[in-house]
Formats: sequence, structure tokens, C-alpha cells
Amino acid sequence: MNGIDQLCPKCGLCCNGVLFADVELRKGDDAQRLAELGLSLEKKGHKKAFAQPCACFDRTLCRIYSERPKRCRTFECGLLKRVQSGELDADAALKLIAQAKRQVEKVCKLLRHVGSDDERLALSQRYRRAMGEPVDLSGGKASVELPGKLMTAYRDLMQTLQGGFLT
Ligand code: SF4
Ligand code: SF4
Repeated sequence: MNGIDQLCPKCGLCCNGVLFADVELRKGDDAQRLAELGLSLEKKGHKKAFAQPCACFDRTLCRIYSERPKRCRTFECGLLKRVQSGELDADAALKLIAQAKRQVEKVCKLLRHVGSDDERLALSQRYRRAMGEPVDLSGGKASVELPGKLMTAYRDLMQTLQGGFLT
């Protein structure tokens, strides 16, 4: 079993809006075909991109795997690269994936508490919006403490993602 088969079905962080807010198309991608397959393409400067969470991600796998865009074909996160090279064993990588997913769930739970329940948005966008909202002083101590808890949980998640997946 290769690293992709071992890790990616248990992860999905590069498709579900946690690692990235969008994916740009590259030269050679067939935008019309990708739109037919379900990707909502938008202009991003001179390029086209689709937002994450990806409409073609079924929570475990890519529904358009054999026709996925070039960026998706070529992307390998740092964790996967370290497993492929033998620097890290798959069990340790799976533990890090499980840790990151627990941290994502904690951030999502806090986001829901502050009223950010739009799961169509990437996690970074939900976090930025939530932190831009005024603090609800009428909700008592628990409500006042929520932004601080959210900030800490998001910072911890970013440290895991930066150290484990993006380097
Ligand atoms: S973040 Fe890495 S391990 Fe996770 S699905 Fe993407 S490539 Fe696979
Ligand atoms: S097209 Fe497939 S591989 Fe690319 S982001 Fe969407 S689900 Fe992931």
C-alpha cells in the first residue's frame, strides 16, 4: 500500500477547506469539463479557481479523481512526502492526521458557538469572519471568553498544519 492509499482517505484536509481556501486551475486544465463535473469556477485575477471545501469531495474521497485538476494531481503535503520518503512511518502520520482532525473539530465547535455555522466556507474564512464580529457582552462570562478560546484553538491547529502538513 502506498502513502496516498494509507493516509489520504483518512485525511482530506487538502480538499475540505482546512488547508486551503481555494484551488487555482493550471494551463492544460479543461475548465468546461471541470465545471460539468461539478466544480464552481470563479475568476481569480487572470486565473480561474474553485473554492474549498471542494464540491467534489465526498468527505473521504475525490469524486472526480481520474479527471481532477492539475494542481490536485501534483499536490503532496509535507506529511505524505515524509511517509513516501521513509522519513516518517505511516502510523505516526495517521496519529498526526487524527490530532489535526480533533483540533479542526474543536475549532468548528467554537465557531458554531459564536454563530458561524456556514460550512460551505473554508475554515480560514469562517475564522476571520467570526473574529471580526463584535463580542456579545450580554451573554455573560462564557460568551466573552469565547473569542479567546477560539483564537487559542485556531492557533494550535495552525501550528499542527504548518509543522506537519505544509513544510
Ligand atoms: S493533506 Fe496530505 S495526507 Fe491529507 S489528503 Fe492531502 S495529501 Fe493526503
Ligand atoms: S477536485 Fe478532488 S482532489 Fe481536487 S480539491 Fe476537489 S476533491 Fe480534492
